[in-house]
Amino acid sequence: MRFLPVFLDLQTGPVLLVGAGDLARAKLRLLTAAGGRVRWYSTDGDHDLGGLAALDAARIELAEGDPLTADLGGVIAVLCAGAGEIGPAMSARAKALGVPVNVMDELALSTFIFPAIVDRGDVVVAVGTGGASPVVARRVRERIEAALPARIGDLAAFIGRWRKTIHRRIPEFQLRRRFWERVVDGPIGALVLGGRGAEAEAALQDIPDPSAFAGAAASGRAEGRVTLVGAGPGDPDLLTIKALRALQDADVVFYDELVPSEILDRARRDASRIAVGRRVGKPGIGQDAINKLLIEAARSGQRAVRLKGGDPFVFGRGGEEVEALRQAGVTYSVVPGISAGLGAAAQFEVPLTFRHEALRITFLTAHKARDAETVDWSVLTDVKMTVVVYMGMTAAPAVRSGLLAAGRSPQTPVGVFARATQDDAQAAVGTLDELPALVEKIDGGPAILIIGDVVARSAPWRQSHLAQPVSYLQVAAE
Ligand code: SAH
Repeated sequence: MRFLPVFLDLQTGPVLLVGAGDLARAKLRLLTAAGGRVRWYSTDGDHDLGGLAALDAARIELAEGDPLTADLGGVIAVLCAGAGEIGPAMSARAKALGVPVNVMDELALSTFIFPAIVDRGDVVVAVGTGGASPVVARRVRERIEAALPARIGDLAAFIGRWRKTIHRRIPEFQLRRRFWERVVDGPIGALVLGGRGAEAEAALQDIPDPSAFAGAAASGRAEGRVTLVGAGPGDPDLLTIKALRALQDADVVFYDELVPSEILDRARRDASRIAVGRRVGKPGIGQDAINKLLIEAARSGQRAVRLKGGDPFVFGRGGEEVEALRQAGVTYSVVPGISAGLGAAAQFEVPLTFRHEALRITFLTAHKARDAETVDWSVLTDVKMTVVVYMGMTAAPAVRSGLLAAGRSPQTPVGVFARATQDDAQAAVGTLDELPALVEKIDGGPAILIIGDVVARSAPWRQSHLAQPVSYLQVAAE
């Protein structure tokens, strides 16, 4: 490490900026965003501020004359960006006077360099490579951006507001640190990160005895909670950043059979993994038992993740779990996931809506032929409606007869999309009339049925029907 990262207080004096063009303007933006005052020597005489907000522009002093003879008294740093030939002389002058100087892309002329920055308000992360590779620094920054909760700065600011009060009430340093650890790692921290600052404020206010609160943390009783997480349709890269974070934070993961092991492997290494879901033909432990497990885990202080295929609130019984958790007084939150229908649509290029052709979408489930009989098919005959059927493989014949009896055309395009977004994904497309035969072509589920004219625009349709969805639609209309 040659360059030590430090944080410079820009309130203490002006920064002298020499240079022109977009490079200089980028530095103006950065410095004013950090609250700095800038004395700018534009080397090409153009003082265009590039649309900088008035408030920021007010902190820029447009300097005239030769920057090489400028008074550097009180200047906290000298920057050259897009300054051309003048860089070396400016650097020599600043160095002689002991003023920190940076000449863009000229390591030898600089006494400090700019890191790549992750800026979340009060939380700022600086990434440096000793000037070796700004591109590598930016890649590292991207990873940190992805790993840090968006509201981490709010959390720091929240604690900042309470610091003095808590300092007065818990004078002892160790205990005070435990107090803050419990706040940051517990439900109050989760509230702030979830954008529920007012509730967090009230919860902190309501702690009757901060020392006792901190003491409970010392006794090892952490604050348990449950996060319902949508795992998406199978491709681990379709996990949301929030889902990944919850998995990496979990003490225990209760997962459904549908969740592939590649996704489970994204959980914290020492988290326990417990399978609780049903499989077709095999009973699971039952919803009541699952609810009980979740509540027990949270009550014993664990951070539990309930990991479900797709989205927790789309045919995932997430609603029932949330109700049980609420009744039990357990802290919980829900992280959405990409539902199977959306994953299949994206992979196989089925636009679920299409300008004048498909204006509505219905998601329904027809688990068994019996369920299919209870569906009111008559509301699904609108030709401008795309119908997405979950758990519809075994009920495919009943789906077909229900829709035909209600009057939907036997020529309506349909697709059966299996194991969507996974390595062995498979599709079979054809007409509603052929639906049961299409399902036969599929080597096992899970699979989703999509019914509607838009299926004629899908990639497998284009491949198997010689790219003629338009002429097909004409035939269907006759
Ligand atoms: N909550 C889930 C749905 C659970 S119901 C979601 O939002 O996706 C289970 C059904 O989802 C399966 O029977 C199947 O119809 C569908 N499904 C789940 N994963 C799938 C996948 N990768 N490809 C196709 N269908 C899938």
